[in-house]
Amino acid sequence: MECDLLLSGGRVVTVDGRRSVYEPGSVAITGNRIAAVGPAAETDAAWQAARTVDCRGRAVVPGFTDGHSHLFQSLARGLGEGLSIWPWLCEFMWPYSIAVTPDDARVAATLGAVEALRSGITTVIDNHYAPTDPETVLAVAAAVESAGLRGAVARGMIGHRTPVALARGLPPALFRYSVAEELELTRECMRRRPPGSTVEIWPAPLNLSYVDQDLVRGAAALAAEFGTRWHTHCSEGAKDPESYLEAYGIRPVEWLAAEGLLDERTTLAHAVWLDDAEIRRIGERRAGVAHNPVSNAYLASGVMRLRELREAGAVVALGTDGPSAGHRQDMFEVMKQTLFGQRQHTLDPAAARCEEALELATREGARYAGTGAGILTAGAPADLAVVALDRPHQVPLHRTVSALVYASRGSDVELTVVDGRVVFEDGRCVLVDEEALLAEAQERSEQLVSRAGFGGLTRPWNH
Ligand SMILES: [Zn+2]
Repeated sequence: MECDLLLSGGRVVTVDGRRSVYEPGSVAITGNRIAAVGPAAETDAAWQAARTVDCRGRAVVPGFTDGHSHLFQSLARGLGEGLSIWPWLCEFMWPYSIAVTPDDARVAATLGAVEALRSGITTVIDNHYAPTDPETVLAVAAAVESAGLRGAVARGMIGHRTPVALARGLPPALFRYSVAEELELTRECMRRRPPGSTVEIWPAPLNLSYVDQDLVRGAAALAAEFGTRWHTHCSEGAKDPESYLEAYGIRPVEWLAAEGLLDERTTLAHAVWLDDAEIRRIGERRAGVAHNPVSNAYLASGVMRLRELREAGAVVALGTDGPSAGHRQDMFEVMKQTLFGQRQHTLDPAAARCEEALELATREGARYAGTGAGILTAGAPADLAVVALDRPHQVPLHRTVSALVYASRGSDVELTVVDGRVVFEDGRCVLVDEEALLAEAQERSEQLVSRAGFGGLTRPWNH
């Protein structure tokens, strides 16, 4: 039989239904699908490949899904330290969001996409919220797709200034559109880049706690109409459910459930501050949650209740929360921090294991995003990564999964394949002029810092 690409002789961690690991194994790819996965000897004998990549000494894993990112924040990387989520937003991220131009956003998204591909991320859910005019949203989606990534640009919607937004001090410049306008603009984006596109558009009321309830209803209705998922920030900070309860007399996830808005189309970023009933609701409805442990640690937001959510039935993905709140889009770091956060919080070293972290980053992330990827099995989308395992920080090698989750990092990825196409190899993203991109990103970031009045944040040493 003939195939286009054969990844031969690696340690193949399939994360399939039986959690098969082939050491050594091979993966055959035809077009944009995986044609076969199995022990190296029999797979290599059965398939004639147009191109064969020798994967000995390497792991072959399903590509990672970053379930929650903000690629437009790439140009803010490295600034805004020592703040919890709300001051971080008010003093840093909102002013940045107001200063960012359409071209800044496009360049930032390309930079973020390149960084993601280099570390084996093949799907990203990019919660884009500045600027959100359709031309910029579509340009960001096109930039992400052109770099070679799969996923969705979840268009952040704020709508009018609710009493909660007013009380919590969101700057007036954020409120550019009415609820009806936000929904219409998102509809336009979804029409122009319909579901099934490699990078889709999803509706994303920015934060359950301070956007209008009608905006949330409208977002869920749009997702149902078009057949996509929808996305929102949910109870990231302890004050989010508190302020909601005060304003509406009900907790935010309880409200979603009561309104019938909680189902497999719902993807909630963070979900740190949930009560037991809310966890039960999310689980019963098989809703998605993106866990962002690096961002949660950086901003001191809290620790998500991973065990309870998964036992209740929630579909839990891992996310980076973008290059600003986490500084790196590196799912190896996110996997490790997932485990460490749970263990520190529960004082139980067995609270979560490395196999589970890899499952969340791959198969569960793909379930959450609805891509059908995240596993290496015949018929699945050909989204995968080849990871070096022979570097000094990975030797000696005994257990591949342990080496991946605890010892490896994004820069150990050597090859990334999305939709059957090699998009990162030999140290370069093949579809992007990386040198020009990095120079432009640095220049634009410096201009942005001065425009947003962040000069004081760039001091070489803070006392
Ligand atoms: Zn976020």
